[in-house]
Amino acid sequence: MKKYDKGRQNNHFNNNKISEAKKYEVTCTGLNELGQGTFNIGKNIYSVSNLLSKEKAIIEENDYQGIKKFRVIKLLAPSKKRCEVKCKAYNKCGNCHLLHMSYEDQINFKKDYVNNCFKDQKLNVRVDEVCKASVFEGYRNKMAVAFKYQNRELVYGFYEEDTHRIINNDYCYIHTKEQNEIVKKIAKIMKELKIVPYDEDKRTGIIRFVLVRFSRWSGEYIVTVVTNGSVFPGRSEFVKRLRNECPYVSTIVQNINTRKTSIILGDEEQVLYGKGYITDEICGIKFNISSSTFFQVNPYQVEVLYNKVKEYLCPDGSEVLIDAYCGVGTIGMTLAKSVKEVIGVENNKKSVINAKYNASNNKIKNIRFFNDDATKFLVGLAKDDVKIDALIMDPPRTGSTEAFLNAVNALKPEKVIYVSCEASTLARDLKILLKEYSVEKVGIVDMFVGTYHVETVICLSQKTTK
Ligand code: SAH
Repeated sequence: MKKYDKGRQNNHFNNNKISEAKKYEVTCTGLNELGQGTFNIGKNIYSVSNLLSKEKAIIEENDYQGIKKFRVIKLLAPSKKRCEVKCKAYNKCGNCHLLHMSYEDQINFKKDYVNNCFKDQKLNVRVDEVCKASVFEGYRNKMAVAFKYQNRELVYGFYEEDTHRIINNDYCYIHTKEQNEIVKKIAKIMKELKIVPYDEDKRTGIIRFVLVRFSRWSGEYIVTVVTNGSVFPGRSEFVKRLRNECPYVSTIVQNINTRKTSIILGDEEQVLYGKGYITDEICGIKFNISSSTFFQVNPYQVEVLYNKVKEYLCPDGSEVLIDAYCGVGTIGMTLAKSVKEVIGVENNKKSVINAKYNASNNKIKNIRFFNDDATKFLVGLAKDDVKIDALIMDPPRTGSTEAFLNAVNALKPEKVIYVSCEASTLARDLKILLKEYSVEKVGIVDMFVGTYHVETVICLSQKTTK
């Protein structure tokens, strides 16, 4: 989880080792890029979650697989800026990071983070606008929880940060009431039917994970039960009871994952009840979502993000547009009506099959999808000197490649819209694009309230066309 390891402003400290149990009294010297509070022990700088600047706290040190891990156990002098956190598991769970900050402070933290990434690359680029979220709870359409026996009790939930220990928490606020209810009822049904959870060490037991996804548009819920093999004793009774307890569940799927891995889903699946997928809508386009379909997790903010992309692109209807790293084709499809032609490229085969299906289902005819590595595809286009008017790129956190970016510079589309979920790689990549492009606008969209994640959208225009 060490994305960044730099503390800032560590000029003063005040700490005393309290006992042999490795507890320390510390004063927070600032925040690092993960929103954790930094502090000193001797000359060393460390960080801990859930600590704000200038706060004094007692923290506990634990050794986890040779790495020092800290946790706040008592706040001695809380900051006036601290907000109350409803979640009981916040101090242990690694899913949310900024809930103890006001929303305004969360946004400023994200804005500073993005600006600092540009500064680190010596770029004279700044965030121009922020699209804040409007929904703060129940916004995440995908919930994945693990099931296991812990201290001889059936528990379910998320893993404690950097471990495989489940945090026993009966309500997660970033998911909906129904998602929370479904996993709770599943645990109840498992107990009633004596269905044994998976044991990672012995590789025995039945249920490993449960995935619950919902469609904001249709209100449908899909439940995927991930089992350690095709055998699922009590399966029909399980389905009957789950439908009875949660009648809003529209489809139930069994996914088989026999691998020794932390990856949730296996390749094999069978539908136990209903259609096996749900349908959601973004910007008027319908998308079918099954258990393994990649889909943006915040259905409220995704339209805000895609509308921002369209605003920056400002199409006149004549453009040939590339949608690179297109996933299931959502961005390209929402823009297809406003441009002449869209070419999507994506290296995940399943996503491309989904994308093609979604395009034909929505009767979008001016879009084509290629199952290829984005770099290979773009370098090929540049070699053939293909005329491209605009390009959207939305790579994963690791960003794009030098060869891809050089190919963009060679193809010279008039506009490039870069959508990024990791500003440090965006800033790195931008350095190359700025040889041929200038930055018109930088926006951030808050897709992941309460977490340090931030989505950035940049509009670039070609220097020579100006
Ligand atoms: N634009 C989409 C998906 C963005 S996520 C959306 O908004 O929903 C990034 C996507 O890039 C993923 O679908 C991932 O499979 C794809 N990807 C990762 N590396 C790639 C590569 N080298 N070539 C093409 N696609 C890639």
